Formats: sequence, structure tokens, C-alpha cells
Amino acid sequence: MRALTDWWQARVLERERARVDPLDWVRVRDALPLLEDLSEEDTRRLADLALLFLRDKRLDPAQGLELTHTMRLAIALQACLPVLELGLDWYRGWYAVIVYPEEFVPEREVMGDDGVVWTEHEAKSGEAWEQGPIILSWADVEAGMERDGYNVVIHELAHKLDMRDGAANGCPPLHAGMSPKVWAETFSAAYDDLCRRVDADEETPIDPYATESPAEFFAVVSEYFFELPELLHAEYAAVYDQLRAFYRQDPLARLGVTPETI
Ligand SMILES: [Zn+2]
Repeated sequence: MRALTDWWQARVLERERARVDPLDWVRVRDALPLLEDLSEEDTRRLADLALLFLRDKRLDPAQGLELTHTMRLAIALQACLPVLELGLDWYRGWYAVIVYPEEFVPEREVMGDDGVVWTEHEAKSGEAWEQGPIILSWADVEAGMERDGYNVVIHELAHKLDMRDGAANGCPPLHAGMSPKVWAETFSAAYDDLCRRVDADEETPIDPYATESPAEFFAVVSEYFFELPELLHAEYAAVYDQLRAFYRQDPLARLGVTPETI
């Protein structure tokens, strides 16, 4: 069965690869400094994952956005980086990525802790629905291509990984050999520390948005893990180590940096 699946996947990939203009790959890679430390082999595997992602998921433009092939590739490559060593199965169970031109304002009723219901009008750069689509603002995807710790695609996909075992709570399903207790202690300590620093009006290198909730903390530190691993490691080395074990990637090593040299 496995051999048949591999054979089938190879056929599909062959066809999908042939449909991409090689110049498009060059354009997209040039626009994504995030990918520049990947080896040739990893880049090839990531490109294949991106093609399979585009085959599995519908990318739906909204509000008149023209979603070109290079834009689709740029979204798919960033979306697949977190699962480069985990596999696309981790994105099973949802099917659509809706892309707005700019920030969008979802109008929906929310209930507060006090039971009062109100209509939310907050502009968003991205959203991940439990068992539903991911929603992105293209303007923010574009802004996130700079390597500065902000990446809305990785952020929303991190929420999706977190949601694989229920509502987003800052802890995705962990691999065998990882300790939920160590994860919880490590993330709680870092989250509490960041909340304390933000409450004290301290300038923090990590975006204060991470203090919104443990789920946002996980999504935000995932952005730093891939974009600015040296910064995350300097701030919260134990969180970096947990993310390295979870994502099965070591972006610091890709930069040629070892913890001793930081
Ligand atoms: Zn979020």
C-alpha cells in the first residue's frame, strides 16, 4: 500500500512540477529571505510539499483580489515550512485558505466571560478556524515576507497545528519522547515572564501580542523560531528547544549558529 501511495505521489508531483514556470520559483524564492538558509535538498522537499498543499487546499481570493500563481506559491511555501519534517498530514481536516486584499473585519457575535454578547468589528490580518479555513490578508502576507519575526502565514498555520487536538491552547499534540509537563512548564514560565515585562511597559524583542493568550504565544514564538531563531533563543532558550523538538527543525543550526556562539 505504501509503495502504491509513493508511486502515486511521485506521479502527481511530476505533473505538478511540470506546471510551474521555473522562473516563478526563482521569483518567489527571491521574495522570501526566510528560505535562504535551507539546503538545496530541503528547498526541493519544501517546493514539493507546497505543490501538494496547493493540490489539497483551495486558495480562494476574496473582495476582487487577483491571486496570481506566484502569490499562491509564496503562501504555500511559507505554509509548508512548519511541516517540512512533520508532513502534510498535520494539515488534514480543512480545505480552504481565503485571501483578502487587506485586513478584513469579520462581523460576528462573541460572548464575553460575563455572558454579554456583542458584535466584534476588529480588523484582522489573519485567522484560523477550528476545523475550518484559514483567512489571510495579502497585504500582511506581503509585509510578512521580510525576515523580521512577523509572518502571518506561519502564525495561522501554527494555530492549525495547535488545534489538532481540540481548541487552540498553546500546546499542539506532542511527539513520542516529548514531555507535556516540560512543555507546559517551559511555555508557562516564558509566557508569565513576557506578560510581566509587557505589564511593566518594558520594550520586549518579542511582539507583545504574544501575551494575548497561551495560544497566541505559541503562534508568535513559532514565527520567531523560523524567522529570527537567534532572537528567540536569546530570549527564551528553553522554548526554542521545545519548538525544535516539535517542528523537528533547527533553524539556528541552518544559520550556522551554535548556542555557544550566541
Ligand atoms: Zn493568532
